[in-house]
Amino acid sequence: MRDHAVVIVGGGPAGLMLAGELALAGIDVAIVERRPSQDLPGARAGGLHARTIEVFDQRGIADRFISQGQIAQVAKFGSTGLDISDFPTRHPYGLGLWQNTMKRTLAGWVAELAVTMYRGREVIGFAQHSAGVDVRLSGRRKLGAEFVVGCDGGRSLIRKAAGIGFPGWDPTTSSLIAEVEMAEEPEWGVHQDAFGVHAFGRLEYEIVDGEIVYADTGPVGVMVTEEHVGSGSEPTLRELSAALTAVCGTDFRAHSPTWISRFTDMARQASAYRAGRVLLAGDAAHVHAPDGGQGLNLGVQDAVNLGWKLALVVKEAAPESLLDTYHAERHPVAARVLRNTWETDISADSARQSQPGSGPHDAGTYRT
Ligand SMILES: Cc1cc2nc3c(=O)[nH]c(=O)nc-3n(C[C@H](O)[C@H](O)[C@H](O)COP(=O)(O)OP(=O)(O)OC[C@H]3O[C@@H](n4cnc5c(N)ncnc54)[C@H](O)[C@@H]3O)c2cc1C
Repeated sequence: MRDHAVVIVGGGPAGLMLAGELALAGIDVAIVERRPSQDLPGARAGGLHARTIEVFDQRGIADRFISQGQIAQVAKFGSTGLDISDFPTRHPYGLGLWQNTMKRTLAGWVAELAVTMYRGREVIGFAQHSAGVDVRLSGRRKLGAEFVVGCDGGRSLIRKAAGIGFPGWDPTTSSLIAEVEMAEEPEWGVHQDAFGVHAFGRLEYEIVDGEIVYADTGPVGVMVTEEHVGSGSEPTLRELSAALTAVCGTDFRAHSPTWISRFTDMARQASAYRAGRVLLAGDAAHVHAPDGGQGLNLGVQDAVNLGWKLALVVKEAAPESLLDTYHAERHPVAARVLRNTWETDISADSARQSQPGSGPHDAGTYRT
């Protein structure tokens, strides 16, 4: 039985964008999201690149994002800034905006469209047959769809259940990122030394003439490279203190964390973006170090490439083979990003190792 034409698993940025695209094309689409609310337990992406802002502009929603963020030249290769202000685009800049705000804004747009949202429900498996896919949800519920799209993040159940490989590299380095109170003041800004990259900044900031100007008080955003690759479990304040002490000789009496999370330089990409009636987009299809701030942007652009194609196939206005062009066009783009972030890491590592007194320490990774 068909409940929806398309079921999207995961209501992150990729899933929300795809749902919006399909709904605009008049397709009956539903999102299944296991989180009960839109809010993320911690900041992740810190901004949008020009192409993503252009895509939002094409949908008439760019101003919703621009009005809440800070425009700046953010494109970089390693530590080298790339000024795109003379690029032939209406948006020759990046936008500083936290992922939570972006997600809330995207979700607000999707809520105005005909998208069914199953919130607080987890997809636990699916069965694919010639006419569709039966998606199994927690609580013994099933949803029938013609197509299912896994936008369910790097640990994607949909990718695994579809038997799609995820070849790549295990992490060689990990970093902790957190929002905490600090009783002692660290040296603000981004620092690079033999340990890796670490950074401290007040959460509240403004961009003045392209430079970040931090507030004088309030919680501190911290990023610190760990001495050894951290475990996959949720990081603790104790681990953050240990990492800070190893790098700075003190933990600045960090306390009262709002959240602590860990990211690594693991780089993996799905070997296929489609397996019959199952497709992948966003982190479900590719994961990499956050250098250059590209992951969320990639996922939104995957969704835009896939959306109109899937809509035409559902409407039987195009053959299913159109869906294969999604892999053909988007797989090479993420492959380039994986290579680019890897090369950025290598160049950052060489820069550290050429510093006097530095040793062959872990490669670091940092976000922009
Ligand atoms: C520290 C850090 C900094 C980053 N900085 C940047 C940056 O500056 N710029 C940038 O572009 N990117 C950045 N990224 C990457 C960015 O956060 C991700 O690429 C982005 O969140 C991926 O979006 P997504 O929709 O593909 O997946 P996600 O955001 O992971 O969303 C997946 C959703 O699927 C849901 N889900 C998972 N499994 C199931 C299931 N079985 N059933 C139902 N729901 C399920 C999850 O609850 C989640 O809501 C950063 C990441 C980190 C960790």
